[in-house]
Amino acid sequence: MMTQNPSQTVKIDGPTARLAWGMWRLQGEDVGAARRLAEAALEAGMTLFDTADVYGRQFGEAEALFGRVLREAPGLRGQIFLASKGGITRADPPYNSTAAGLVGACEASLKRLGVEVIDLYFIHRPDLLTHPAEAGAALTRLRDEGKIRYAGVSNYTPAQLETLQRFLDFPLASTQPEFSPLAYEALHDGQLDQAMRLGLLVLAWSPLAGGRLMAPGDDAKALRVAAALDAIGAREGVDRAAAALAWVLAHPSRPTAIIGSQNADRIRAAARALTVEMTRADWYDVLVAARGTRMP
Ligand code: NAP
Repeated sequence: MMTQNPSQTVKIDGPTARLAWGMWRLQGEDVGAARRLAEAALEAGMTLFDTADVYGRQFGEAEALFGRVLREAPGLRGQIFLASKGGITRADPPYNSTAAGLVGACEASLKRLGVEVIDLYFIHRPDLLTHPAEAGAALTRLRDEGKIRYAGVSNYTPAQLETLQRFLDFPLASTQPEFSPLAYEALHDGQLDQAMRLGLLVLAWSPLAGGRLMAPGDDAKALRVAAALDAIGAREGVDRAAAALAWVLAHPSRPTAIIGSQNADRIRAAARALTVEMTRADWYDVLVAARGTRMP
């Protein structure tokens, strides 16, 4: 049993760690190459793997490829805590959290992945036109049928999360907000506060701002943040990516950062983030660089 935070009310029973590996950018047909990425993530201590039905160039591509990895290396399944998501379609409208939509999406994910249960299943984005009672009933049914172990939401406002929770008789386990030194709304819109209040596992998506932090171009904000991170990195003997990840990890909600790289060396290098001793001054320096103005 591992917990992210001793005060959390939902104890996620399974292998979770401060860094997770994400498959948004996983694509193609090369099962061996995908397996090497998964193994690099495990070597780096990432045991939570995050995917979604919509990931890949085609709907279902990333799950199908990872499913082939799991069939080739069946021992892998027992070593990972598998998260997936449903509720985004590639059709119009783009969201579907109706009961039929979510249950169908989850069953299709199980099939593509070739697994009996998804450890943590997210509603990917709120469907504004489905009553949360219906979305909640779908999650309850999936859980009662043993198809998912835990449920979470992604890109939900705190009010949306709380309203969905009202229609569930089990606690949501996780929230998945965007969170990086370039996209830090979750600090201020209540998402991270709510996660601490409810003891939710926070999975931070795009912790390197989708790579923009590593290639800021002529974006003034990204350049300021990159310089602040580089100063920390130079002192700590790590690269900018590790310094950025350490900034995400330093928040008291104890986020798990989802590493999006599909490069085995970069996946392994991300673990250097765990060696960074980020001071309070460092952390605020990065935030001030992002804001472009001093703290009020
Ligand atoms: P990210 O870690 O912010 O960005 C990864 C990108 O940065 C990759 O294209 C990577 O390229 C590039 N990169 C450049 N230099 C790098 C370095 N030194 N180290 C690592 N990466 C470097 O994450 P992300 O891919 O945008 O998102 C991470 C995960 O979050 C996704 O896989 C998915 O699981 C999740 N996510 C969730 C949502 C949601 O709505 N819930 C939305 C987006 C993402 P290389 O591959 O070439 O290294």
